[in-house]
Amino acid sequence: MIHPRAFVFPGIATKVIFGHGTLAQVGDAVRSLGRGKALVLSTPQQADQARDVVDRLGALAAGTFTEAAMHTPVDVTDRAVAAYQAAGADCVVAIGGGSTTGLGKAIAVRTSADQVVIPTTYAGSEMTDILGETDKGEKTTRRDPAIRPELVIYDVDLTLGLPVSMTVTSALNAIAHAVEGLYAADANPITDMMALESIRAFKRGLPEVVADPANTEARAEVLYGAWLGSTTLGYVSMALHHKLCHVLGGSFGLPHAETHAIMLPHTAGFNAIAVPEQLRPVAELMGGTVGGGLWDFAKALGAPLRLSDLGLEEPDLDRAAEIATRQPYANPRKFTRDDIKTILTDAWRGTRSVT
Ligand code: NAD
Repeated sequence: MIHPRAFVFPGIATKVIFGHGTLAQVGDAVRSLGRGKALVLSTPQQADQARDVVDRLGALAAGTFTEAAMHTPVDVTDRAVAAYQAAGADCVVAIGGGSTTGLGKAIAVRTSADQVVIPTTYAGSEMTDILGETDKGEKTTRRDPAIRPELVIYDVDLTLGLPVSMTVTSALNAIAHAVEGLYAADANPITDMMALESIRAFKRGLPEVVADPANTEARAEVLYGAWLGSTTLGYVSMALHHKLCHVLGGSFGLPHAETHAIMLPHTAGFNAIAVPEQLRPVAELMGGTVGGGLWDFAKALGAPLRLSDLGLEEPDLDRAAEIATRQPYANPRKFTRDDIKTILTDAWRGTRSVT
């Protein structure tokens, strides 16, 4: 690896509890923050898990709000903040995927609530200071220290039932955080180590989870990889890959994890030409070129490979390329609108990346 001569390592602000059966520590977690009234958050699909958390919290629970939704719509957040205040809560416990974590962050940035997050996917929002919100069909993203959760409980047992298709796309979403972390302008030796170890953990564990979703050791390996990928995302700037996925999700309504899964080989392959040293370990781990190896890995796991399968129409590619190049942002390889159109077209067709 090439490290910058000078770097800033900001430290890691979030306490992490990782293991099997760690959900049992949720009450202690709330007490450790000096809080005593937790509003428990989930999606409607995970309302039973929210009620289980309430049972475990006993007198520390202030109630549930089970309407978390993809892309953190502001009208849902407004209702959740009203519920938080009406319940006299002083913290939130979010159990679920990135959508539920996002709702907890949105409440926290408006009320200074402390957050305990219990992730049940590998999306990797829990360690970051990033919040994406949608209002009237527009998605905006911001970073703020107040957004970063105080405490994360990773309980491997909660991931055993994550369906295989979601397991794969969610894991590729986390791998994307790690890959972009490797060439981030503000990467440091610690984020480099975490990013590489994240990719290694997914490479080792993910095929085993796909073969046997109830394999607890492989599930632990994959959740460990998710923690590392999320932590990487939480401390460095993202580039072309996250920007393109943001455009495809925000302006075309494509599903988050699937979009990341499809785009990653193409964006990583494009950037590999500019930063071969930083991405060489990815090629070595994946047994090919950077983009080709990632594409083969995704295909072997049964991941979706074509944006066209997500409902994106061919004429949308021009508009997506135009939106993605409207404002400049850091990326290791310079690009034109035509470059973006080519990347999107390859991803739309599901062509194997060659770089
Ligand atoms: P999600 O949270 O929307 O979950 C998808 C569905 O799966 C939901 O119905 C959920 O209840 C269900 N689910 C979650 N865990 C399950 C389990 N173990 N078993 C069965 N069902 C389960 O999806 P996601 O991919 O985790 O998160 C995507 C969202 O996270 C997007 O809105 C994205 O923008 C956000 N995100 C944010 C960041 C950040 O740093 N801000 C990082 C990554 C993702």
